[in-house]
Amino acid sequence: MAEIIILMGPQGAGKGTQAQMLAEKFSLPIVATGEMLREVAKSDSPLGHRVKEFQESGNLVSDDILAEVISHRTSQEDCKRGYVLDGFPRTAPQTELLEQIAAKQGHNITVIKIKIPHEFLYKRLAGRRTCSLCGHIYNIYFKPSKQEGVCDVCGGELFTRSDDKEDAIRRRLSEYTKKTKPLVQYYAQTGRMKEVSGLGTPEEVFAAMCKIVEQAAQSH
Ligand SMILES: [Zn+2]
Repeated sequence: MAEIIILMGPQGAGKGTQAQMLAEKFSLPIVATGEMLREVAKSDSPLGHRVKEFQESGNLVSDDILAEVISHRTSQEDCKRGYVLDGFPRTAPQTELLEQIAAKQGHNITVIKIKIPHEFLYKRLAGRRTCSLCGHIYNIYFKPSKQEGVCDVCGGELFTRSDDKEDAIRRRLSEYTKKTKPLVQYYAQTGRMKEVSGLGTPEEVFAAMCKIVEQAAQSH
């Protein structure tokens, strides 16, 4: 097995949970760019200093530095059999950098897209209600409180967080689709894009993902 696994899917598709489950099942580390950059910036190394400079100037870290950080992290022993990559690539130029990293490491890239109708995501996200007292989370469609607007646990008032307002959600979802379009196209064209339905339970989605990863690992 020598897979770089990339999960794609909008907010609410359960990407984070699935990544964690995959990493555990296949004993692969999750390599998350955000976390990695924070770590590197703390280190007293030439690369660390350059990352820190970017962050202090308020600019995004440049692609070649990002690639260097990823290269460095993923050349470690625990990534030999592959890894789950989170937060990269985000743009077309970054896909090329990842090709170079993968080729150097002898890894294959498998992209799994969690496909989920936007209408379903609206319900999952816009239906969310949070207790103003204890923070317990409900969903008016899938997991309603016994009494509308009232927390089952503590009797507190339920409210909709501003992140969960329908407008904000619609905007985020359409931004996500637009932003990831070049990546989706690129990986579809190069035959590395696999899709799973995100409509089932987390366990069902996970089972479909495992099949894809196992097939990918066997095919080369
Ligand atoms: Zn409560």
